[in-house]
Amino acid sequence: MLKPIAAGKNIYNMAAPKKDQTTASPTPPPESGLKFFREILGQDWVVSHLKAAMLAGRLAHAYLFLGPGGVGKASTARALAAALNCAQPGADGDACGTCPSCRRMAAGTHPDFLVISPLEGKTQIHIDVIRELRRLTEYPPLGGGWRVVVIKPAEALTANIVAANALLKTLEEPPPQHLLVLTARGEVDLLPTIVSRCHKLAFAPLPSALIIRELESRRSLSRSQAALVAALSGGSLGRALALDPEELVRQRDQVLSDLDHINRGATSLVLEWAQRLTKNRTDLDNFLLLAQLWYRDLLLAHFQAPAGLLAHQDLLPLLSQARAGSAPAAWFANFAALGEAQRHLQANLNPELTLDILGLRLQRQGTPHDYR
Ligand SMILES: [Zn+2]
Repeated sequence: MLKPIAAGKNIYNMAAPKKDQTTASPTPPPESGLKFFREILGQDWVVSHLKAAMLAGRLAHAYLFLGPGGVGKASTARALAAALNCAQPGADGDACGTCPSCRRMAAGTHPDFLVISPLEGKTQIHIDVIRELRRLTEYPPLGGGWRVVVIKPAEALTANIVAANALLKTLEEPPPQHLLVLTARGEVDLLPTIVSRCHKLAFAPLPSALIIRELESRRSLSRSQAALVAALSGGSLGRALALDPEELVRQRDQVLSDLDHINRGATSLVLEWAQRLTKNRTDLDNFLLLAQLWYRDLLLAHFQAPAGLLAHQDLLPLLSQARAGSAPAAWFANFAALGEAQRHLQANLNPELTLDILGLRLQRQGTPHDYR
């Protein structure tokens, strides 16, 4: 009998959910605060580009920051706003951190730094918020510097064509001393009319080593916990910091136990496993991710990749044993089967049928290696 994962428990902890800004008022979202360019991790090219443009007085009037969530897009926008308004910037243009403007940025009370996001629970930015922004931009920035407006995510404008069109006028004819920063995962979900009016800057996923280092220092995680979390973060520090490492290890162990049972078990057991897992989409998504990560590590270990690259640092002896009883063809096939199941679920195919087939494929391939 397979032990069920506690239903619905997400590997992301629920602590401190981001509360969306509801209007264009200067009240900051909780993640606001002073950010320096020198604190932005892993985005050296973007930061140098912005600093150089700022020092040369050649900033675009609207930027589109593109990249996955949690890689520093909003932090960079805050650093840019702080630097532009700082009374005593350093020689490289970065904010000082102590002048009245920097203190207001740190307190989240700077009147010229605004963040516009959908209302909580909504996916679209309301037209009234864009109208309010347009009225506000008729007046110069209150502090005499730059008014920086962040719109995140820019995807929230796509479904509301009226709000997007209202913003186009501001993007086309920006008032002096105004800068708009739109953030988005990619261009595909944005209106071409918005994209064409912005200067695009691509933010890269962060390297795993950097995420591991930050998790060790900020969360005091062990190396093995940090490696597992980083491997599932998709290069997003924000995502990595939101993952619950203990829950992750518990779910990983459950997944390995499930894989072992599937490989050894009767077909009825496989179908029972599929039925159980389809009851909760979060469990299902976590299973697919964690199982793929396991086969990835088995393959890396088999091909003698450096141990530092492996996500399961706490299971290194098990992974090195795997080289002895290796079945790389089966691992490749299982990895592919898991990826295919993910794509089928994303395409809204029947989850139970998808899982039945996945379970039978995993069972058929099997593996001579004992996971536990
Ligand atoms: Zn300053």
